[in-house]
Amino acid sequence: PGPQLPHDPSKKTLVICGSGWGATSLLNSLDTEDYNVIVVSPKNYFLFTPLLPSVAVGTLNPRSIIQPTRYVTRHKKRQVTVIEASATDVDPVAKTVTFADTSEIQGAVSNTTIPFDYLVFAVGAEVQTFNIPGVREHACFMKELEDAEKMQRHFMDCLESAAFPGQTPEEIRRLLHMVVVGGGPTGVELSGELHDFLEEDLRSWYPELSESVRITLVEALPSVLPMFSKQLIDYTESTFKEAKIDILTKTMVKEVKEKSVVLQMPDKSIVEVPCGLVVWAAGNTLRKVTRDLMAKFPHEQTNRRGITVDECMRMVGANGNIFAIGDCTATSYAPTAQVASQEGAYLARVLQQIAKKDELEARLKALQTAPEPEVQEERAQIEKRLAKLEKIRPFKYSHQGSLAYIGSDRAIADLPFFNGNLATGGVATFLFWRSAYLTTLFSLRNRTLVATDWIKVKLFGRDVSRE
Ligand code: FAD
Ligand code: NAD
Repeated sequence: PGPQLPHDPSKKTLVICGSGWGATSLLNSLDTEDYNVIVVSPKNYFLFTPLLPSVAVGTLNPRSIIQPTRYVTRHKKRQVTVIEASATDVDPVAKTVTFADTSEIQGAVSNTTIPFDYLVFAVGAEVQTFNIPGVREHACFMKELEDAEKMQRHFMDCLESAAFPGQTPEEIRRLLHMVVVGGGPTGVELSGELHDFLEEDLRSWYPELSESVRITLVEALPSVLPMFSKQLIDYTESTFKEAKIDILTKTMVKEVKEKSVVLQMPDKSIVEVPCGLVVWAAGNTLRKVTRDLMAKFPHEQTNRRGITVDECMRMVGANGNIFAIGDCTATSYAPTAQVASQEGAYLARVLQQIAKKDELEARLKALQTAPEPEVQEERAQIEKRLAKLEKIRPFKYSHQGSLAYIGSDRAIADLPFFNGNLATGGVATFLFWRSAYLTTLFSLRNRTLVATDWIKVKLFGRDVSRE
């Protein structure tokens, strides 16, 4: 006997893999009367990723930026089953998903396979390491909640070790050199948050160390933040210069060691730089479960960036019963929360249309056994309605602009504005950034928690205790 699923045999089964931006937005909008809905994710919560760097420096409490998935599902019309497990295999022919409990504690059953009629694949991506030696062993990532918590512990440990009596000045400089790899928005925001912590708290808590702290941001390309306008890139670079964050562009990290990073400089020379902390924010790559699923369609799924979908988010090659959204797909859009959440909301509407169509088709099939004259009229009616439901309106992305926090109470924003672009940076943009995030945080509970954390930090400073 498996888990007790809210099974209604007259409804089709919809399995959603993931509980991130795409999946949660879908769940928010989905009419659960239409399907038997099952959510499978190794995390039983939604993580508000834009505020993750704030957790890494102790501005926000980790719990403030997560929302249990059951908070969303308990308000739905019909019960939704939430299973904390990782999907390990999808069989598109048998139409089944196999998943395993990969958490610390497991019961007698920790692996099972369930059938689906429709599958929404929204498992996101994982951190790209390019198999560069030492990255997994020695660097911190900035993708999951535990990454931010680990970074905070590591960072505080560097500070306390630097404060250890008798530490040589050279070792203090090494321990207090923080290297951020990747000049995309994650690396830039994290560098800004690190600077704020050093500026606002370190000076008072560790006055003797504050002058020895250095932050270096390493980027392989000629500039940071290539997705922002030139004006905002310049603004970020000058803000970082003022904040004494060194930006090394055209510089590639070749290896991460326990106490240093190996850099290939613009002139191709190799330099080994001592440091206490390395944060790896070098972009995304596909998860194994995604690659395995794509390998089942060797002719249709050949894009190495992710799952190829049609204009209705259906996985190409999969007969219309597997949908994919968010960072696990390869589309013309950037892998952002904004895109994933719009795709999730769109898919909720598509699934509603499909449910109506499936219901009418079932009625039509049932009428086939009824005697002719009485049902002819009804059949004609159903066929007419079915024809209307045949065509699904394609997904259309509406870009609301790009926002990034760059530290020193400043943010940058590229906003689509009266058919043009408004590029703004500064303190007003920062206030806009904060209010924008507060209003997009999903629940009132999370908004309250985040706002309270911000006030606490203003009043008392960040908590520098190391858990
Ligand atoms: P995710 O949100 O990553 O969700 C994937 C889900 O799948 C997770 O719940 C995960 O636990 C689950 N999962 C993983 N493996 C499995 C499995 N095997 N089986 C089942 N489930 C699985 N974008 C913006 O637009 N604005 C921002 O300000 C912004 N800031 C960011 C800051 C940081 C630090 C990071 C890392 C990203 C940021 N992004 C931002 C990008 C944004 O977070 C992603 O584009 C977005 O999360 C993609 O949504 P998704 O649903 O595809 O994946
Ligand atoms: P990214 O892919 O945007 O940037 C990673 C950067 O790392 C690249 O510029 C790459 O050149 C560099 N890099 C890779 N390997 C390197 C190496 N060995 N040495 C030096 N540099 C190296 O990754 P991200 O910043 O994590 O962003 C991922 C996605 O999430 C993007 O689509 C981004 O737009 C989105 N995001 C958005 C926001 C925001 O809007 N505020 C914030 C965070 C993330």
